[in-house]
Amino acid sequence: MLTGKHLIAGNWVAGDTTFKSEPAHGEAHDFSVGTPAHVDAAAKAAEEAFWSFGYSSRAERAALLNAIADEIEARGEEITAIGTSESGLPEARLQGERGRTTGQLRLFASHIEKGDYLDRRHDEALPDRAPLPRPDLRMIQRPIGPVAVFGASNFPLAFSTAGGDTAAALAAGCPVVVKGHSAHPGTGEIVAQAVDAAIKKLGMHPGIFSLIQGGKRDVGQSLVQHPLIKAVGFTGSLAGGRALFDLCAQRPEPIPFFGELGSVNPMFLLPEAVKARGGEIAKGWAGSLTMGAGQFCTNPGIAVIIDSAEADAFVEAATEALAPIGAQTMLTDGIAEAYRAGRDRVAGVTGVRELLTSTCDMRNATPYLFATTGKEWLDNEVLGEEVFGPLGLVVRAADFDEMQKIAKSLAGQLTCTLHLDKGDSELGRALMPVLERKAGRVLANGFPTGVEVADSMVHGGPYPASTNFGATSVGTLSIRRFLRPVCYQNMPAELLPDDLG
Ligand code: NAP
Repeated sequence: MLTGKHLIAGNWVAGDTTFKSEPAHGEAHDFSVGTPAHVDAAAKAAEEAFWSFGYSSRAERAALLNAIADEIEARGEEITAIGTSESGLPEARLQGERGRTTGQLRLFASHIEKGDYLDRRHDEALPDRAPLPRPDLRMIQRPIGPVAVFGASNFPLAFSTAGGDTAAALAAGCPVVVKGHSAHPGTGEIVAQAVDAAIKKLGMHPGIFSLIQGGKRDVGQSLVQHPLIKAVGFTGSLAGGRALFDLCAQRPEPIPFFGELGSVNPMFLLPEAVKARGGEIAKGWAGSLTMGAGQFCTNPGIAVIIDSAEADAFVEAATEALAPIGAQTMLTDGIAEAYRAGRDRVAGVTGVRELLTSTCDMRNATPYLFATTGKEWLDNEVLGEEVFGPLGLVVRAADFDEMQKIAKSLAGQLTCTLHLDKGDSELGRALMPVLERKAGRVLANGFPTGVEVADSMVHGGPYPASTNFGATSVGTLSIRRFLRPVCYQNMPAELLPDDLG
């Protein structure tokens, strides 16, 4: 049952005005518009909660993460029903994403119980060291305080209300204030009900979690500027993320803004691989490029190939594989509109050829395929920008030198992919130092869509893929974003944090 209200520290609170959801299909609902006053109440409750939650045991926080997963599962059908209606994503996708979300919560629970993430260090005192004695030094990671979370429209569960950022912050011991995404307010509310139920069941401080619905941009802006908020986790567009990042930097007390933004995720196709299995790669690319209507941050939007007869065959095979793919529903009217604008931007560049002309009416899009030369790509920065949706661009480099130039001029990426065979090893080795400077994840002979939630995963990269190249928003390392190291010098054992004892 939807209330249409905000969840502020365990209470469902109505606003003075409402906005209507814009579902892809099904009934629209009214939701309270969030205000800076709601944000203030939630941030104050989060700060109050920090004094207990920030000092809770790892076992207590693991129990909370597991209980949230249980409560989400208990509402599984309700979440799928509202999620498919709001986002237009198919039922199976919502079910899979729910499993990923609860799996992530449970993985983080078991990860913090092991304790390695605390990176405990100890330099024993050297009282007899000359010329100066060394004090006893102990270091451990401590939670930073209340965290603001902004989810993305394209992952209404795994990158939203109780998604990766929330799970990581709670695992670290940081209370969370979520700014609800206006593309899926109902899904957000049901998930918030699950979190609220888990907190109440365990008798924890209600300020640990709040959800303020959007409806107006000043909600998010006041949230990142609130003096009690100590960090922000954001997944979304480059424009939105950059605006909020700048606000964080301009605060009297600047705070870290962990923004996971856009990426074109280029693939580099080396000659022997193209010769041996160009058609197969083309088919795989078409599948990855159009999965979820291409609305993945890891969508491989660009394929760089060296000009040759095999390159012609690759382009033909990609066109053939993409042509029969029918229209898919995009997440919001705004995203469909941005997709059309992106297509026009690419098509408007001199030297870009349209290989597959498609349609995108109000909210339904079919794939587009374009081709250009390496020179045109290098001369037109706009061709390196993300078009969020099923749009592919083949870049035909004159030779390997030009391919390398293209790699060197890339902006920061979430992923870069190499397709190579044994005979391509030398070229692959020459490209690797460039690719690993550009991306958070470098893949061989695969496709970047489908991000494993694991210990070694890095979902981040140099700007604009993310605003913080030292961090990841997926995997257990993401917890580290919401911790800071504290050193305890000559501290009596009874004053040390329990985790150091
Ligand atoms: P979005 O439009 O940037 O929205 C994200 C959130 O930020 C929403 O809550 C939105 O509020 C808020 N927001 C945006 N601009 C704002 C501003 N100027 N002031 C205050 N709040 C603002 O992004 P999206 O449409 O949800 O997601 C699509 C984009 O996300 C794509 O570019 C995709 O590549 C990227 N993405 C990246 C990753 C990653 O991990 N790197 C993952 C998924 C998606 P409203 O609710 O009011 O719109």
